[in-house]
Amino acid sequence: MRRNYLADIIFPINCLGCKAESKNGDPKDYLCEQCLDTIPSHSKLACLFCSAPVTSGEICPFCKKEHPLDYFWSVTEYGYPLVNRTIQAFKYRFVKALGEPLARLLINYWQNRKITETLKDAPLLVPVPLHRQRKNWRAYNQAEVLAEYLAKATNTKLADGALTRPIRRPPQAEITDPNQRRANAANLYACPDPARVRNQTIVLIDDVATTGSTLDECARVLKQTGAKTVGAFVVAKG
Ligand SMILES: [Zn+2]
Ligand SMILES: [Zn+2]
Repeated sequence: MRRNYLADIIFPINCLGCKAESKNGDPKDYLCEQCLDTIPSHSKLACLFCSAPVTSGEICPFCKKEHPLDYFWSVTEYGYPLVNRTIQAFKYRFVKALGEPLARLLINYWQNRKITETLKDAPLLVPVPLHRQRKNWRAYNQAEVLAEYLAKATNTKLADGALTRPIRRPPQAEITDPNQRRANAANLYACPDPARVRNQTIVLIDDVATTGSTLDECARVLKQTGAKTVGAFVVAKG
């Protein structure tokens, strides 16, 4: 009891939306149900690279010529203050419990959009990997946390570690120039066990996508290794 009491004084838990204070110090109260429900999800599907409207989340035929990624879905926009605040807290304030409500956004969208059916073949979920040092610093990979919840709720296979990131470079968030972002993402990823991805339909999972260069680079490596189809699914488009 005493420990919880002290923890509440040092870290009072307030909802990131309505600021309501948690009564019992449950980390779930960092985002209350009512506030989670206010997060709008995209009503229309658009190509990740040019924003042209598409029917089922595919990369449009024009962009497909230059991009290995086949599909892209995002639940919402990073520009919404509550989305932004929640993802920031999940990633940079180490509030791992926020993975649960964020994953709920993914789960609802996955089911409403019938993503499994769209893909035809049963997909494998692959979290976008972090470099080991960065994962150690945060204690978890936010993409893995989301992918685990999604896999469980949608009865989809999780292939954690099918894609790895052996090389350490600055995080994409620290680079603004699109060309530099592309160069920074190049040759970062590897498939240590090609048999796991060969002929598979893969859906990459991450929290945020901005230009799509990370996802595209992951898709390139996966396809080079023999993956059949690669899509990506994120909470928010930046
Ligand atoms: Zn709230
Ligand atoms: Zn396009």
